[in-house]
Amino acid sequence: MGMGYTLVCKKCGYSRHFFLGCGMMYNEVLRERTEQAKSGALGERLKELFEQYPNGCIDAMNELYYCPDCRRVECESSLDFYRPKNPDQEEADYFAPDMDQYELVETREHTCPKCGRAMKKIMRLTENEPVECPECGGVLEGGHPLLWD
Ligand SMILES: [Zn+2]
Ligand SMILES: [Zn+2]
Repeated sequence: MGMGYTLVCKKCGYSRHFFLGCGMMYNEVLRERTEQAKSGALGERLKELFEQYPNGCIDAMNELYYCPDCRRVECESSLDFYRPKNPDQEEADYFAPDMDQYELVETREHTCPKCGRAMKKIMRLTENEPVECPECGGVLEGGHPLLWD
């Protein structure tokens, strides 16, 4: 099962679909991202965090990020870093770690590939925090999260 999300602009007709969850693939993605993180391929900071908390765990779920400056929307692996609440816990097994057993250490900063500013995670679209259309600056609306098998 995976999850997707569609952003739609009613003003200019822009629409883009993002795949968020990766369902059965999640363990593969998590394993791959963890190896990259430990080797430093995802930046020095994650490597340091894994050195500090070898039994830590990253969140490899895809999330939507939005650049408030240039309105770019990207779908990226969250890469927030967690450590076990119980310090004696063994290394995370990749098979769907029970995130209730973990606590957040640090959120990963996502920077805009276009302008280099910090992007914000889009939790859901609300009127308080409108996400603007990359094409025309109109307010984007979200299609309902779409589930499939
Ligand atoms: Zn638009
Ligand atoms: Zn930007």
